[in-house]
Amino acid sequence: MRIGYGNDIHRLESGQKLILGGIEIPSDRGSVGHSDGDALLHALTDALLGALAAGDIGSHFPDTDERWKGADSLVFLSEALRFATAAGYRVLNVDSTISLESPKLRPFIGQMRANIADILGMETGSVSVKAKSNEGLGEIGNGLAVRAEAVVLLEKISV
Ligand code: MG
Repeated sequence: MRIGYGNDIHRLESGQKLILGGIEIPSDRGSVGHSDGDALLHALTDALLGALAAGDIGSHFPDTDERWKGADSLVFLSEALRFATAAGYRVLNVDSTISLESPKLRPFIGQMRANIADILGMETGSVSVKAKSNEGLGEIGNGLAVRAEAVVLLEKISV
């Protein structure tokens, strides 16, 4: 088995879309990023790459590459899964936490879990997405940023 960890932070600004876990969240502020700015999928992608010791999201999908401008981050996660599958691993489970002051994410957690489970070809029951505020502290607490952290566990199923 191999464990992987990833985290990501994006600045929030008005006039941008807020996309988390592949779901567009109604919000007056959204993520600034080269791609669609999906902090959760970026953290998950890094966790998968980390478990494989296969670099990070920036090394595979550099923000200097026009191909990834405005890219749907599902592509990054799918590609990281492809690396895992090619190396003979399957994903056992995923756990993640999003830190965002507002809006409240509870109504969207189910959709995010289903979406991630779908991309990774897993049961929704093996995909955890949690959300919390930052208690008004710091950049996240002041609504200037969104952060996501994720861990994944991989199991070798073929040599
Ligand atoms: Mg990112």
